[in-house]
Order: sequence, then structure tokens, then C-alpha cells
Amino acid sequence: MTRLPEEVHYNKAFGWAAKDSSGVLSPFKFFTRETGEKDVTFKVLYCGICHSDLHMVKNEWGNSIYPLVPGHEIVGEVTEIGCKVQKFKAGDRVGVGCMVGSCHSCDNCINNLENYSVTHGGYSNTMVVDEHFVVSIPENLPLDATAPLLCAGITVYSPLRFYGLDKPGLRVGVVGLGGLGHLAVKFAKAMGTNVTVISTSPSKQKEALENLGADSFLVSRDQDQLQDGIGTLDGIIDTVSTQHPLLPLLGLLKSHGKLVILGIPGKPFELQVFPLIQGRKLIGGSMIGGMKETQEMIDFAAEHNIKTDIEVIAMDYVNTAIDRLLKGDVKYRFVIDIGNTLRPSS
Ligand code: NAP
Ligand code: ZN
Repeated sequence: MTRLPEEVHYNKAFGWAAKDSSGVLSPFKFFTRETGEKDVTFKVLYCGICHSDLHMVKNEWGNSIYPLVPGHEIVGEVTEIGCKVQKFKAGDRVGVGCMVGSCHSCDNCINNLENYSVTHGGYSNTMVVDEHFVVSIPENLPLDATAPLLCAGITVYSPLRFYGLDKPGLRVGVVGLGGLGHLAVKFAKAMGTNVTVISTSPSKQKEALENLGADSFLVSRDQDQLQDGIGTLDGIIDTVSTQHPLLPLLGLLKSHGKLVILGIPGKPFELQVFPLIQGRKLIGGSMIGGMKETQEMIDFAAEHNIKTDIEVIAMDYVNTAIDRLLKGDVKYRFVIDIGNTLRPSS
């Protein structure tokens, strides 16, 4: 364990961490700070496995620091609060996503965009977080199927709102039917839009249409289907985790259509500008969402009964889950049952 300054008090915690970029996690002991006056400490019950965890574990973005305890789709139950905490009490059901701190004073923070001013750590027994970065989970949402909303949910909800792709009747494409993608379908449908899934996996068609509520399904490697879809969409939410051609996607947009990129491949995209200029199209991006909007998204999910489709796993299954996620073999999010399966000795 690392040596820590003596004047600050810490609590012991445990979880699973990547020790290097091999992609393998193993048990790990560390410290969390004691509950500060504005802090909420909670017992972690469930944590989703986001593809960003894989990018980080394998250092695909080049900024990983080891040992690294991943996990930023975290839900649990409050065990202790600081004396100045106002919104929460012991026993409350809470969630934490990618952020646990920000400067509170820059333009982004003042405008509820703290997401643009991150930590990991939910593959562990406990978290201590400034109450500003904690959201409440309404009673009607199950904790396990809600965990992924803390990252995947807000990541798709925010751009649907920001880019105006939330108006009933608009035609919205969702590229990549994974963790983010299947939630994008659910949120976009709840907002009243007409949703086309654009996928490399023909095997996902039946379920997308029958279970997730998509209106149509397009196989992105099928030239005839791409041809038929030209100029049909008002906007596209692109959740693909690796490099892929943007040109066919721009082709699917109507004039003034918007392609919003959410996936974060480790390598840059190449862009031919002509198809962008013709039709005055726009390519944008978006990163998670601010805290106000994250609570709004959770409340919207509660109102519209939006839950993640999950496979609940035990902590010691995490390395197998990582391999399966890399192969796209999950419908649609692994969630680790931390509360029941993470053991100090495991
Ligand atoms: P995921 O569950 O692995 O889903 C990604 C989907 O992309 C796959 O299910 C697959 O869908 C499609 N795909 C995979 N390889 C492809 C390829 N070579 N060509 C075309 N499509 C491919 O991942 P996720 O957790 O949803 O995350 C997706 C990406 O978003 C990751 O890069 C993650 O880091 C990023 N992310 C960004 C933010 C943000 O704030 N912007 C937040 C969270 C995650 P089909 O089988 O349907 O093709
Ligand atoms: Zn994530």
C-alpha cells in the first residue's frame, strides 16, 4: 500500500484493480478519505462495466495511472454523511457516475456543466463523494438496472436534449447497439422520436425491433440498406467504440442533420469534408452530462420506466466479462453485484 500523509485521516477500502495495461484485474487494497463535512459515504451495491473502463484498463487513451480501480456506474446505500450535507441521509439510495469533484468556479461549473471541467473506483466496497456529485435514485427504479444510467444513460440523454433530437416525430439513428446504444434507443423512443438502429450485427435486429422498441434496423455493412436510408435521418447518436467510417453515416442524414459522436476510439477519425458541406451537416460530440441533468435523466427514466438490460455478475467474473464485452457478447450491460460478491479476500 502507498504511504499517506499522517495529518489526513483515511479509511481502508478494497476492490479490484488493473495493475498494468494487460487488461486483467485482480484484488486490491487502498484508502479512501474519511467523510468530510460535505461528503456522502456509501456502500457500493452495484457497478456497471462501461466500455470506457476497458479503454482505461488497457491504457488505450494513453492517460491511465496504475493501479487503477475502474467503475463509474455506481449505485449504493448511504452509510455516513458529513455535518454540512443537506440532500442525503443514511440509508438513502444513491448513484455516482464519472465525476466526484470539480472546481465549482469556472464557467462550465457555474453553468451546470461540471462534466467539462473524473474518477474511477466503483469496483470497490465504498465511496466517499462530495454530495454535489451524488444523485438520488427513485424508489421505483431497481438499483442493479439503474447503475448503468449513471454513465451510459446520461451520455446518450444529454446530446438528445442538447442537439434538439428530442422532438416527437424526428427521425433519430443510433449507431452501435451496445450499452450506450440500447439506452439511446430507449430514451429516444420515450422522447417520442422515430428510431433507426444502425448496427454491424444482423443478429440484433429482431430484439431491437421487438424488445427495445426501435422502429427500423439498418445493417451498416449492407450497401443496399445504406442506399435505401440515404437522406432519411434528422440526427444520429454514434456510440461505436472503435474507428469506423463516418461517410456512410453522413449520407444517412437529411440536410442540416447532426451526427453526434459519443464513442471514444483510441485512434483519430478521417473525415472527407464534401459530404459535410453539402447539406450543411454538423458533426458534434458530447461527454456524459452535468449533475443537474444527470438527476433530470434519472427522474425521466423513473417516469418512463427506462431500465438497462443487464447481466448481473459476481466480482470474480470481471475478467471474463471484460473478454466478453470486447467481443460484443453481452445484452447489453454487465453489472457487478458488488454488495453480495466482493469480499476483502477475493
Ligand atoms: P459497447 O457496449 O461495447 O458497445 C459498442 C457497440 O459498438 C457494439 O455493441 C457494436 O454494436 C458497435 N461496434 C463495436 N465494434 C464495432 C466496429 N468495429 N464497427 C462498427 N461498430 C462496432 O460500448 P459502450 O459501453 O456502449 O461504449 C461505447 C463507446 O462510448 C466507448 O468508446 C466508450 O468509451 C464511449 N463512452 C463515451 C462516453 C462519453 O461521455 N462520450 C461515455 C461512456 C462511454 P453493433 O453490434 O450494433 O454494431
Ligand atoms: Zn462510462
